[in-house]
Amino acid sequence: MIKKATLLALAVCLFLALLSPGLVQAQGELTILDSSAQSEFPYRLNFSLSADSDVNITDIRLHYRVDRMGFARVTSEVYIEFAPTNTVYIDWPLEMVKIGGLPPGSSVDYWWTVEDARGDKVETAPARVNFDDPRYSWQSLTEGKVIICWYEGDQSFAQELMTTAQQALARLAEDTGAELEKPAKLYIYANAQDLQGAMIYPQEWTGGVAFTRHGIMAIGIAPANLDWGKRAIAHELTHLVIHQMTFNPYIDLPTWLDEGLAMHTEGLLEPIFTDYLDRAIAENSLISVQSLSSPFSAYAEESVLSYAQSYSLLDFLITNYGQEKMLELLNTFRQGSSYDGALERVYGFDMDGLDALWRNYITTPAQVSQEMPLALEAGY
Ligand SMILES: [Zn+2]
Repeated sequence: MIKKATLLALAVCLFLALLSPGLVQAQGELTILDSSAQSEFPYRLNFSLSADSDVNITDIRLHYRVDRMGFARVTSEVYIEFAPTNTVYIDWPLEMVKIGGLPPGSSVDYWWTVEDARGDKVETAPARVNFDDPRYSWQSLTEGKVIICWYEGDQSFAQELMTTAQQALARLAEDTGAELEKPAKLYIYANAQDLQGAMIYPQEWTGGVAFTRHGIMAIGIAPANLDWGKRAIAHELTHLVIHQMTFNPYIDLPTWLDEGLAMHTEGLLEPIFTDYLDRAIAENSLISVQSLSSPFSAYAEESVLSYAQSYSLLDFLITNYGQEKMLELLNTFRQGSSYDGALERVYGFDMDGLDALWRNYITTPAQVSQEMPLALEAGY
């Protein structure tokens, strides 16, 4: 009986030893003591690691992956420089200026691999760090795939912006058949200054930014500027939807199509744009569709005309050829078609053909069209 009990105890010990080798191995094996990440929005993410071994630790790598749309899951690997030693404390900053910045609400997954001189290797489990803007107490409101985050103004303010967003999506779907495929997060800052504090390259004119690959947009909307803010939401939300649905590894959309759709969703053109358009028609100084396919000029006057013409081109295409053709055009671009190739396939004319037909359309009397864009903006 005693013998049996002893045998059983031995078996249990062996079993435990097999289950948790760490408990019975000699102390000093390669061990991760701590791993963490802290955000210093908007400038950097600080990653920290401490590890210990009875021999020198010789190799430490940080692996991280930004959560955003991509054609492949891109993992970055950072070789940490340090002097080999038994116990290491590593701090490594991911500087946003080096990767072009990340928007509020984005997140990064990370893990470490550590190796010692004996050849033991440990990989930590992936962890996620959120890159939130901690300067404000954010509230949020969700409807369908739209999430509005804001900190100044009451519930009805947020509700009004939500209604604007939903109406813009409905208008865009009616014009083009395009819909949000993934959630869109809207960060509403109380003014342009607050918004600029969230960016590493703040520009004077930044009123709104769509981070299309993240499904995130950030806009500064002061209560006194609500009308502008509503247009900005419609405009930037359109960029998100259109980028989600045409995302491909081959080619960007022609700028006139991307900006024209965004302006068209805003509603009627504002007078400043119609004025520029009318003057360009009168002076025969319209910009060609070919030129409008590239990023717009940084010069204010030419830029305003570029937005105005883009609106007008979309107005022409949607009015004359309808929603189905526009949806077909977007789907053709998603497959990576050339600009001329996509237009020819869907409408039967190329960029020069569109240019000629559209000029004829806008110089024909009885055109009443109005509309407007946002201030200038940056796209990511
Ligand atoms: Zn735009």
